[in-house]
Amino acid sequence: MRKKFGQNFLINRTVRSKLVDVLGAGKGDTVWEIGPGLGAMTRELLDRGVVVRAFEIDPGFIRVLRELFGGEAGFSLVEGDVLKTWREAGEGDYLLGNLPYNIGAVFLANLIEEGRLFRRMVVTVQKEVARRAAALPGSADYSSFSLLCASAYRVSPLMTIRGTSFYPAPHVDSQGLYFERKAGSPAYPAVFYPLIRALFASRRKMIKNKLHHFIASRSRGGEDAGALTGEILKTCGLGGDERAEVLDLKTFGDLAKTLEDRLQ
Ligand code: SAM
Repeated sequence: MRKKFGQNFLINRTVRSKLVDVLGAGKGDTVWEIGPGLGAMTRELLDRGVVVRAFEIDPGFIRVLRELFGGEAGFSLVEGDVLKTWREAGEGDYLLGNLPYNIGAVFLANLIEEGRLFRRMVVTVQKEVARRAAALPGSADYSSFSLLCASAYRVSPLMTIRGTSFYPAPHVDSQGLYFERKAGSPAYPAVFYPLIRALFASRRKMIKNKLHHFIASRSRGGEDAGALTGEILKTCGLGGDERAEVLDLKTFGDLAKTLEDRLQ
């Protein structure tokens, strides 16, 4: 077992089955399984006729997985760090994973930002990451990560999973998270993602200051950043004194769209 790979095995069989049930993948669907470890979830998936593309980094587990599932037609393994390998791994309909604590949020953010979206995802993450993923405007956990998740998915918390459901037991509780892709969600301009990060960078600052700074850092000269900031805020119906933590997804989408149009 290697601590650096965040290896805590979900030994509670009932929870494992529940997570696979909620994912709802059926015969012939392709599921990306992140960090299969010794393959307990993999077995559940293959038994349901699902095509599994598993991503594993640990050479010892890779050997075991090949021995256990190498002969099964529905199984393939992508070896190495999933943060690097996923881009070349083809398509998937669903994603499932008891995500290693050190890469969970970054991995989800990369997938969404780079447009690799799934019909549904069911993941287990640290409770704190789950709270941020599902947070609504005005709450303490609302962040650029909440917006990123909401830009593509409806996110709902599933069950809390106590440390004792894992081996070895981590110090913190985990939580299941359910992501359902939003139908017909608007495509956000490329500037949306750096913009939400910039506007949340220092939570207590007013939006006009952060937007001004963002525009000044991106303008190719010629524009008056102050005037442009005022104009964009007005177009989006904002006074400028608001803080990012109270603004909803639609407002951030409008800001990004207006900014993109004006900076072209
Ligand atoms: N799926 C198993 C379970 O639920 O019991 C194991 C989950 S364990 C929390 C995380 C798994 O992800 C381990 O198998 C670990 O080796 C693997 N892992 C950690 N970092 C990884 C990475 N960057 N890329 C791919 N797999 C990784």
